[in-house]
Amino acid sequence: MTYPAQTPLSERLRSLVDTVQHNERTLRRFQDVELRLIGAQDFASFLDTLFGHLPREFSLSAVTLWLDERAPMLLELLEPAALRAADHSNLKTSREARVVAQRLCEDGEPWLGQPARLDSASRRAFFGEAPAPASAILLPLAAGNSVSGYLCLGSDDASRFVPGMATDILERFASIVTASLDNVAHRERLKQLGMTDPLTGLSNRRYFDERLREELMRAARYSVPLACLFIDVDSFKRINDTYGHQTGDRALAAVAACVRQQVRLGDTVARYGGEEFAALLQGDRADAQTVAERVRAAVEKLELLDDDGERIALTVSIGVAARTVSGSPADALALGRAMMDEADRAMYQAKHNGRNRVEALRKAPTDCALR
Ligand code: GH3
Ligand code: MG
Ligand code: MG
Repeated sequence: MTYPAQTPLSERLRSLVDTVQHNERTLRRFQDVELRLIGAQDFASFLDTLFGHLPREFSLSAVTLWLDERAPMLLELLEPAALRAADHSNLKTSREARVVAQRLCEDGEPWLGQPARLDSASRRAFFGEAPAPASAILLPLAAGNSVSGYLCLGSDDASRFVPGMATDILERFASIVTASLDNVAHRERLKQLGMTDPLTGLSNRRYFDERLREELMRAARYSVPLACLFIDVDSFKRINDTYGHQTGDRALAAVAACVRQQVRLGDTVARYGGEEFAALLQGDRADAQTVAERVRAAVEKLELLDDDGERIALTVSIGVAARTVSGSPADALALGRAMMDEADRAMYQAKHNGRNRVEALRKAPTDCALR
């Protein structure tokens, strides 16, 4: 700050006090955002603070977070938790953006300036086809020697972020974002571990039941059909007895992978019990029957070998049920329970009728009769 010599001392002092007070207010508002980030229990609220609260509090036109595409753990964790929930177009992982960011943030220093002055390829790597902010600061998210991503704050005001301005508050903020990101990733990881079956890597029953509830609400909102498969490995006790428990475990993992392969990415597959799997599919009964038949045939063809190199024959029995969900949340939950129950009974029917089969109850109760 420079003062012409003729400015009276009192005025210079007032200006200094104003600046100090302004900085203090800014710092306090940053601390508020930082506390929210540190306290975030999951990715959804972390991203909400970053993309919702932060730009509102600081009149930013854009906040964008780039996560290093080479940090698969982060992305894997983000996928189910946050990306599903909302449109997070300000969350990016492109390699191009990382390369540009690395170049701009030389020696890990923040970059400030007008994106309009960047070459068009760099600008596009960052802001896509959307109009770039008038000025921006790009902050590396660094822990130790490694950079896990970049945070970009943009403003409509071309003079808001200019090269040479003091960036200590923002750099401190970036380090808090880095630490919180790490923290929330660990939280999500723990949550995911509690929802994952370690033997097969599939979701467990707890996760399945949670997803079922979510999917029922979604299906009720859009009046779309939802289907489920109950899959039980045939005569699995004999496999254990013949080949040993360890080979039995291997067989379970193989069946799990096989089922996972036969359904769509967005469908949920879980290990529901010992040698039982459940799948939740978007679609009606005919769709589900097609998928079930595909699963049955694929398991039958599995090339699983015992310790002596002999092929182990594996088959599954599958029960199928579906519902078009509508009505209140309570109605939807009741329909879901009835659907699962029916798939379970259909599976037992498949056992009864000789195993290695797909069955649906012949006369499924109509949706209306249940309500
Ligand atoms: P069915 O065709 O009627 O389903 O016969 P089954 O033998 O598959 O059914 P049963 O319910 O009698 O036996 C299931 C077996 O699955 C018994 C149990 O020891 C075995 N099992 C359950 N969980 C595991 C596991 O994690 N690993 C191994 N190796 N075996 C398991
Ligand atoms: Mg069973
Ligand atoms: Mg069985």
